[in-house]
Amino acid sequence: MFEIEVQDTFDAAHRVVSYPGKCDRLHGHTWRVEVNASGRDLDELGMLVDFKGVRQKLKDVLSVLDHQYLNELPMFETVNPTAENIAKYIYYAIKKSMVFDGERVALTSVRVWESSHSAVRYSEGA
Ligand SMILES: [Zn+2]
Repeated sequence: MFEIEVQDTFDAAHRVVSYPGKCDRLHGHTWRVEVNASGRDLDELGMLVDFKGVRQKLKDVLSVLDHQYLNELPMFETVNPTAENIAKYIYYAIKKSMVFDGERVALTSVRVWESSHSAVRYSEGA
């Protein structure tokens, strides 16, 4: 089994509405995002997937979030833009883009780092 990982960052402000502490106040993070995909078989070039395509897709997805006040975006209208919900949003945005060869390569997880010491990983399944 091979697993690739692509990383990028974006800057954005948010507040965790109703949080019993200072995270309820407007503040910002440089969010680090890691995308993982895996598969057993390589293509004819000996690659699982071309990093360049995945990096570009991640960049496209993050451009929607970059330098935004996340609470004002449509996808966070009914849920708080926590690291958990951001990871889930990015996961399905990447998955929907079908950047991976669905038969051979599967998106496995998206991890979002809110700071250098706190991260959330989202994947499907139990
Ligand atoms: Zn925060």
